[in-house]
Amino acid sequence: MRDPCLTQMKARSPVTLEAFATHEVFNQTPAFVDVDLASLDKPMLGALAAFGEESDAKKIVARGPILGSAENLELARLANENPPKLKLFDARGERQDFVEFHPAYHALMRASIAAGLASSTFEAHAPKLASPPGKLHGKGNVARSALHYLTSGVEAGHLCPVTMTHAGIAVLAAAPDQLEKLMPLIFSRVYDASFRPFWEKQGVTLGMGMTEKQGGSDVRANTTRAERIAKDEYEITGHKWFFSAPMCDAFLVLAQAAGGLTCFLMPRFRPDGALNGLRLQRLKDKLGNRSNASSEVEFVKAFAWRVGEEGRGVATIIEMVQLTRLDCISASAGLMRMGLALAMHHARHRIVFQRKLVDQPAMRSTLADLALTVEGAAALVLRLARAFDRASEDASEAQYARLMTPAAKFVVCKAAPAFLYEAMECLGGNGYVEETPLPRLYREAPVNAIWEGCGNIMALDVLRAASRDRDAAHGVLTDLVRDTQGLPGVRATKQRIEVGLARSDAEASARAVTQDFATLATVEALARCAPPAIVEAFARTRLSRSSLVVGAAELSSECGELLARALPTG
Ligand SMILES: Cc1cc2nc3c(=O)[nH]c(=O)nc-3n(C[C@H](O)[C@H](O)[C@H](O)COP(=O)(O)OP(=O)(O)OC[C@H]3O[C@@H](n4cnc5c(N)ncnc54)[C@H](O)[C@@H]3O)c2cc1C
Repeated sequence: MRDPCLTQMKARSPVTLEAFATHEVFNQTPAFVDVDLASLDKPMLGALAAFGEESDAKKIVARGPILGSAENLELARLANENPPKLKLFDARGERQDFVEFHPAYHALMRASIAAGLASSTFEAHAPKLASPPGKLHGKGNVARSALHYLTSGVEAGHLCPVTMTHAGIAVLAAAPDQLEKLMPLIFSRVYDASFRPFWEKQGVTLGMGMTEKQGGSDVRANTTRAERIAKDEYEITGHKWFFSAPMCDAFLVLAQAAGGLTCFLMPRFRPDGALNGLRLQRLKDKLGNRSNASSEVEFVKAFAWRVGEEGRGVATIIEMVQLTRLDCISASAGLMRMGLALAMHHARHRIVFQRKLVDQPAMRSTLADLALTVEGAAALVLRLARAFDRASEDASEAQYARLMTPAAKFVVCKAAPAFLYEAMECLGGNGYVEETPLPRLYREAPVNAIWEGCGNIMALDVLRAASRDRDAAHGVLTDLVRDTQGLPGVRATKQRIEVGLARSDAEASARAVTQDFATLATVEALARCAPPAIVEAFARTRLSRSSLVVGAAELSSECGELLARALPTG
């Protein structure tokens, strides 16, 4: 006799697959495709409404169905299953130092650049760029970060050159001549994959080379040399150990000039049109981030223009790093969001022990805890993006951005790998298998915590910012406490931060202080955009600093609301 439970499961299963000779396929979850990734994301939309411009929601919601289309999700899979190939020489043995990508990668690049991810925040402010470098963050960062977050959940690898191009604009303000040439080609929103000098192209992308074999965090250890050959023109000799997206048209590179570590713009082709002296050595065999090529490179008298003054390399390139760090945060938040959506979707369909997973209390606690993390990450990154928007006219927002960029990168990027492992486990064995996106999302997650400054570097940067301008740090903390007053754990967190910052061995507690600062900032961000029960739940469970496994937090009263917001039905 047929098990009534099986009959029920079959009746509910929306999956109709071709019959096998030995069994029927049922109780499998339909693919999560042709979904409106924006409209389904209540936490992100709430944060967008609170921190962005009125018109932002419309723009972002319009991208939701495109990003979540079956076709786009397939491009993401293809771009990663067909990683880039290094083609060092042509058929005659001439060097070409070329990287070949799958058409899916090019399609993703085309779409992201056309959507403005490489340029939108600077487009309306182009004329001001030719001024000396300042805190150049552009405008419209909230909408751009929301789009970056959604896109990362689909395919993060191709966003590496997109992010570097966007952030590079801020650095080029220190080289008005180059800026003038490149700006129209970045603002064109055209992805031109042809391998030609940038001045012959319709659109360009920028990369960045800082890390060398002997030091990445400590870029002052760079040994690559720059020799001046004319006014602002140099020849660079040395290497970079990590050099991502080497098919970019030009790179912001650090090298030692006579006056010290200096920033340069190194084009792929010399001004006379010959291939520049960038000799790609090999592509890194990476854990994840597989659609993106990351190379090792030698510079053999490579031509470059100086950007900013000699000896001011770190100060010049830091303009770029703040922006790339913002993207690391939105990328990690976006990866987690996609993991949560896939876990929710599965739990809504899969029946185990005669009940849908989403109705089983232990799974509800797990999903609610994951959903709470995404609520916090989405709120924090868009709150931070708003600070970038306002930094030029509001000193307190500039101070918030200075402190919270490394702090948020620390907590959000560090949360992602463990989060994605839990999201994967929600799908059981299927989550571990490459036919679902979870393995790719999981492999992608750690890189955001490593590049653009590892965790300890972020924590030490928070300490540095706080010790250089104690009043500013105190001001940011006071504002956060004022706006979160009365919520559980706020007072104790404030005290811990103050004690941690005052310690004579402050570096030893840098991670703890950074975690507290960012978690408090998350509560404040949520207070501005999320329902009160969720704000309270986040403060109660996250500020207590007890080390909990996912799903162990007491969230029974907020569970229903969290799950409804995580992936609305109907
Ligand atoms: C996929 C990928 C792509 C990349 N692409 C690029 C690129 O395009 N361009 C580029 O320039 N770089 C790139 N990088 C390099 C990346 O930015 C560096 O790997 C990173 O900054 C760390 O530098 P490192 O590897 O030299 O590690 P190290 O600097 O040796 O650091 C090792 C560890 O020590 C810790 N640490 C360092 N100093 C301290 C301290 N004072 N106290 C306590 N702990 C400390 C760090 O937090 C880290 O955990 C890429 C990296 C990856 C993984």
